[in-house]
Amino acid sequence: MTVTGAGPRITAVDTYDIRFPTSRELDGSDAMNPDPDYSAAYVVLRTDAADGHEGHGFTFTIGRGNDVQVAAVEALRPHLVGRPADALCADPGTLARDLTGDSQLRWLGPEKGVMHMAIGAVVNAAWDLAAKRAGKPLWKFLADAEPEWLVSQVDFRYIADVLSAEDALGLLRRGRGGRGEREALLRADGYPGYTTSPGWLGHSDEKLTRLAREAVADGFTQIKLKVGADLADDVRRMRAARAAVGPGIRIAVDANQRWNIGEAVEWTRALAEFDPYWIEEPTSPDDILGHAEIRRAVAPVRVATGEHVQNRIVFKQLLQAGAVDVLQIDAARVGGVNENLAILLLAAAFGVPVCPHAGGVGLCELVQHLSMFDYVALTGTTENRVIEYVDHLHEHFTDPVVVRGGRYAAPDAPGFSATMRPESIAEFTYPGGSFWAADAAVAAAAAEEAAV
Ligand SMILES: [Mg+2]
Repeated sequence: MTVTGAGPRITAVDTYDIRFPTSRELDGSDAMNPDPDYSAAYVVLRTDAADGHEGHGFTFTIGRGNDVQVAAVEALRPHLVGRPADALCADPGTLARDLTGDSQLRWLGPEKGVMHMAIGAVVNAAWDLAAKRAGKPLWKFLADAEPEWLVSQVDFRYIADVLSAEDALGLLRRGRGGRGEREALLRADGYPGYTTSPGWLGHSDEKLTRLAREAVADGFTQIKLKVGADLADDVRRMRAARAAVGPGIRIAVDANQRWNIGEAVEWTRALAEFDPYWIEEPTSPDDILGHAEIRRAVAPVRVATGEHVQNRIVFKQLLQAGAVDVLQIDAARVGGVNENLAILLLAAAFGVPVCPHAGGVGLCELVQHLSMFDYVALTGTTENRVIEYVDHLHEHFTDPVVVRGGRYAAPDAPGFSATMRPESIAEFTYPGGSFWAADAAVAAAAAEEAAV
């Protein structure tokens, strides 16, 4: 882009293909994703400002294809290098519109898939930079912002039929009432979470039972079980989990898109005697009317989806169709904070609770900020709202989430909690980082031995 005027600029867009060998532990295993290597297509925006702040962002993938995701981030570089940093931080919405509106790259979506996730990584990095420069954690940066400015950050195109800028302004103005009190409560008590760690499909019944009991002892009031591979196994696992936690704890189940509509209904009904709280991703995230049909058939079991919902337009239709009881935003699948503001506003307008998807690499770190903003300055409630928690890979971040007594502590450090430790980046960059290079050397030696 053309460089004019004074002031700091974006000088570099550095990308990293970071992969963790999680498939070796069966952490993260579910009915559709038996062997994920949790990965991040990671981006750092650097500036020539004297403050030295960088904007960090990423999108989450599960291994193969993370290089494709990184290539998509790199395709956005011409929109970034040379961009004035002050203007970018004062108005990340213009960057978001420029990226989604790129007249050639748009063909690869529009506003969905690899290119849109890349935009999400870059837009989130811009918000990380803006919040760091403001000296605030992102949730507070958003909660302190004027409603008019927040509205200016939202792209109402394709959703204005159900949510206009005026509607959004009304919601945000109302949402501000009492925010000081809620901020104090948030800082004192945190935000409720639930844990998926007990329920991975690869765990034995013994491990499931032990981890479910530990989760309750740790203060969680909701856990989640992966289901959908084998019905007899799921009935047995659900019975074990219910016996472990007792009747007062919510157990959500998650099929990770495994079923057709009829199967989803039958399977959910077969688990109903164990009182599942919600059925998550029963079928394709694109099947809006299918979710509506499942929801009618399995009530009072709630229907939840969103971690693979590609943009605000599909969320709009899920809400319009009465297809979901629980809306699951993901910080790194849609086009970043700006689009998630639109989705939070849509959910608020329809009165549907948002229970974010998290886990993966760094998704807990990111999405907690969006829920905390929602509580402090939009919906004003945590009732029936919980943020997913998975207890791995946090040690790779400089400002990892803190979960105590089943609740997320409000982060204090400025930014979006997206910054990964440099030594973790050096170790797990694929394929040249020290972990993967050593792994390849071992494999090569074994192959040589076998050939002798
Ligand atoms: Mg899920």
